[in-house]
Amino acid sequence: MKKPSRVIVLLVDGVSSLTLEQLLDNGVLPNMAALRKRGSYHGNVVASFPTVSGPAHVPLLMGVMPSTIDLIGHNQFLRTEGRLENYLLHYRLFDRKLKGRRSLYSEYDNSVSVGEPVRVGAHAYRKNIFSLADWAKVRGPANGYVMRTIEHEYRAGRDCIVGWLHETDGLAHRSSRQRNVRDSLASLDRWLGRFVPGLDEGTTLIVTSDHGMEWTTQKPLLVPKIMKAAGYQKDQYVYYTDGGAFCQIYLKKDGSYAQRQSEQDLELLPSALVQYPEIDLILYRRQTNDGDIGVILSSRGRATVKKIHNTYYYRVEQGRDPLGYLTGPSSGMFSTELHQDQCLLATADSDYPDGHYQVFELLMAPSSGDLIFTGARGVSFNILTSHAVHGGLHRSQSVTFILSNKQLTTDESCLRTRDLPRLLGVLD
Ligand SMILES: [Zn+2]
Repeated sequence: MKKPSRVIVLLVDGVSSLTLEQLLDNGVLPNMAALRKRGSYHGNVVASFPTVSGPAHVPLLMGVMPSTIDLIGHNQFLRTEGRLENYLLHYRLFDRKLKGRRSLYSEYDNSVSVGEPVRVGAHAYRKNIFSLADWAKVRGPANGYVMRTIEHEYRAGRDCIVGWLHETDGLAHRSSRQRNVRDSLASLDRWLGRFVPGLDEGTTLIVTSDHGMEWTTQKPLLVPKIMKAAGYQKDQYVYYTDGGAFCQIYLKKDGSYAQRQSEQDLELLPSALVQYPEIDLILYRRQTNDGDIGVILSSRGRATVKKIHNTYYYRVEQGRDPLGYLTGPSSGMFSTELHQDQCLLATADSDYPDGHYQVFELLMAPSSGDLIFTGARGVSFNILTSHAVHGGLHRSQSVTFILSNKQLTTDESCLRTRDLPRLLGVLD
């Protein structure tokens, strides 16, 4: 598509295409269903890993995978300083990290970010004064502010408007009332019914999301408990959880965290963690003579992934394929080699779309943990985010959508969230 003269991106947080499609098909969202029919809809859009707000907004607005620019979570542990930076509480950290890079905003002359954490290159920023409402389990004010402000900015002539509609994520984390998410989307739909007919011909509207999320089915599994059982004292490691289903662990060595731990340093930790049915994937680096490779361990089996130029070599080395890409007899070795662009297409319909590519890039990010693990379906590692979770690599958390009032010209059967700028004719 040729770059539209005006663009509006509504980033509806934490809505998988599965959730959206159910509501579209059941008549709950008539205005969005009309957009799907008249405009375009892609329902197989894979988010960046970890599937957490903030970092997962970067591909949508900047066209790059966050892990490839060492942006690896809401929280980021600074190894040499031994402290955590929190990107969701302090959006200016995104500005610092992303400074000088092009974004959707920077492609326009008069762009505005409405409450959006990733706003590098925007000409104006409107802080969402109600941003904590949904975290206090109140539906309405935070999203309402964004919708009103978008209308105002559109009338004021802005050519690029990005608004963050956060409550679908916040309410799901904090409340077991699944109706909240439906009601939130229904009120967005009613607003779209009033707003869209007034848009001028040259305006492209995008409704999209940064990741999916899923409801929990059991009590949280708390990280200090499992680390203690694995023989680690509290002063021997740092951990953080993001989205409830994603965890990074940093281990102390010789009194500091500055040094990355090798597979040998991890000792028995991976084999202790893999015993927990609540843990899905355990990820860490292995040093080899040809450079570092990624290890993917699950109770199903163990695989490795390495990268030579832009080709990813995935090999099952023990048991069955942890990501389920390679079907066939459960014993023996399998391998596959795929160029970066082929990784998504080859794995799009699996439970872990784009998985081995994204795992490798995350593990190789300079700031990534010594060990990373994700939750099994329906498991949270955090009491605060215990009703619904995201952060993991499973398709329930990673597959989202792009809905538009215009025909976004692509015949691709699957996309990455980082493809959005390209579909809008920018940053390519
Ligand atoms: Zn999010």
